[in-house]
Amino acid sequence: MQTGKISVQTENIFPIIKKFLYSDHEIFLRELISNAVDATNKLKVLASRGDFAGELGDLTIQINLDAEAKTLTISDRGIGMTAAEVEKYLNQVAFSSAQEFLEKYKDESIIGHFGLGFYSAFMVSRQVDVRTRSYQEGATGVTWSCTGEPEYTLDENDKSDRGTDIVLHIAEDSEEFLDQSRIEDLLQKYCKFLPVPIQFGTRTETKMEGEGDDAQEVKEELPNIINDTPPLWKKQPSDLTDEDYKSFYEVLYPFTPEPMFWIHLNIDYPFNLTGILYFPKLNNTFEVQKNKIQLYSNQVYVTDEVKEIVPEFLTLLHGVIDSPDIPLNVSRSYLQSDANVKKINSYITKKVAEKLQELFNKDRESFENKWDDIGMFVKYGIISDEKFYDKAIKFALLKNVDGKAYTIDEYKTLVKDLQTDKHDKLICLYTPDKTGFDSYLKAARSKGYDVLLMNQIIDNHYMQHLEYKLNDLTFVRIDSDTLDNLIQKDEKQESVLSEKQQEKVRELFETALGDAKNKIQLKALSPEDHPVVITRPEFMRRMQEMQALQGMGGFGDRDDFYQVVVNTNHPLVADKLLKMKSEEKKETFANYLYNLARLNQNMLKGEALTRFIENSLEFMK
Ligand code: ADP
Repeated sequence: MQTGKISVQTENIFPIIKKFLYSDHEIFLRELISNAVDATNKLKVLASRGDFAGELGDLTIQINLDAEAKTLTISDRGIGMTAAEVEKYLNQVAFSSAQEFLEKYKDESIIGHFGLGFYSAFMVSRQVDVRTRSYQEGATGVTWSCTGEPEYTLDENDKSDRGTDIVLHIAEDSEEFLDQSRIEDLLQKYCKFLPVPIQFGTRTETKMEGEGDDAQEVKEELPNIINDTPPLWKKQPSDLTDEDYKSFYEVLYPFTPEPMFWIHLNIDYPFNLTGILYFPKLNNTFEVQKNKIQLYSNQVYVTDEVKEIVPEFLTLLHGVIDSPDIPLNVSRSYLQSDANVKKINSYITKKVAEKLQELFNKDRESFENKWDDIGMFVKYGIISDEKFYDKAIKFALLKNVDGKAYTIDEYKTLVKDLQTDKHDKLICLYTPDKTGFDSYLKAARSKGYDVLLMNQIIDNHYMQHLEYKLNDLTFVRIDSDTLDNLIQKDEKQESVLSEKQQEKVRELFETALGDAKNKIQLKALSPEDHPVVITRPEFMRRMQEMQALQGMGGFGDRDDFYQVVVNTNHPLVADKLLKMKSEEKKETFANYLYNLARLNQNMLKGEALTRFIENSLEFMK
């Protein structure tokens, strides 16, 4: 028997490994199985080159749990290792790379995860045995054993088959990994799409045999193969049907509604990346999604934290990305500055934009129907990503209250004649909701204006961004001014009232408004406009909404930014009100008109509303 000391300067590296990897102990299984897959693939390559003449046979990787012996064993029938290779790969290389890594990042708080390959086994084991035999003819098996101190032992064994068994003697503080279902879950998580079959014991299947009364339950023991789903993203898109994509989605995210459409990514230069991105139905929510994009490296699950690799606005998508070119064993801050990652990021953005453009060109109707869901991504992308903006501005849609959809250019042409104001700005009118703004909507339509429906939570930001980028249009909510002033033209209405009469109107409404009297504005509007209109100036309202969104208090809390416009040209004001006999009647009437306007803006609530209804009933008697 040979004993030795693993070549490493730091006397005890294991506590460091444990500490650094603390939050992610479970990845040891991924690392060890990846090694087993690599060893198996290497053998396949040798065989295909004619450098291995033996039988490949069954290459299934076996995972065995022995709760009594407290061991977890990963066995492969790959190339195995000679004693010299064990010496070279396990005692020196792995360890020195681990050390190098720790030295490089010792000053950085490491979030997320990285692999330490084989040595991650020591995060969960009090002892690791490697029983291995090389594929080479005449090789003898060797067993390497190490308890986590730098000392190891190396001994010959009588292993009869080629390949490697990694036997983990699970440590006391890691006994969760002796739990059958915990391991099953981990295998499902990390190994579902590996290219070599992974078996974890057996499973029992119950079938009915025979017919009618003779039918009998028959139990059958079958190998429990984890990865019987071939990874769709590795196949040629031309070989796949819509059903294939949908059922694969179902495998990735069980019990999730069907995706709207998908993009199959496939690139091998200047980096290697495959994957499928699905567009889910969003239903106007940004709620934290439980289904995330999964990142794989050569079919090994790595993470679903893809922030650095996928542009933020696309993290709303689902699916998988597989790239051996994404450096996984490093910290996030490193990922952010990695050139490959940057390229991947802009490639994905480009691909998504192209796919959307294609969909738009090919089947505009279906694109429009899906817009409520797609729109969330597109708007988010337009706001946050300059490159995406350049492409998406051509197919981004504006939908009006009748559900008609236009590209921005189309919309400009549509409203140009009627909705250009005196400063040559195009005024795009919008409402956040149809029913709540009904009377403003009717008013706008009476002038022939078109009104957009902007009811997604992202719309405020989106409109702001379009105004900033496009420069020649402005969005104006339909209640932000009186109808005559929504789109400011040069025409001016003359008041039919004398100065003195106007003064009287003002007085009456000041009494009606009480504390809010400084909000009164007298305007000579068209007689078709309402007698009293409550408006919320666009700019002030936006400020208020932004502040509310950011959870800031201050003036954002108060519903203070409105104006009460009295239309001195309306017959009810110009004629009826002023001709009333008693002062009391006039005051009641002014009050009534004011309250109708408030009702229209949904500002009458509680006691004020009750009083209004009672007074109205009284009024009608
Ligand atoms: P990496 O896999 O990143 O090279 P590891 O620390 O995981 O680093 O493994 C070090 C080396 O040990 C591998 O490169 C490989 O040569 C060898 N090795 C590990 N596991 C096996 C295995 N199951 N069969 C054959 N060789 C292995």
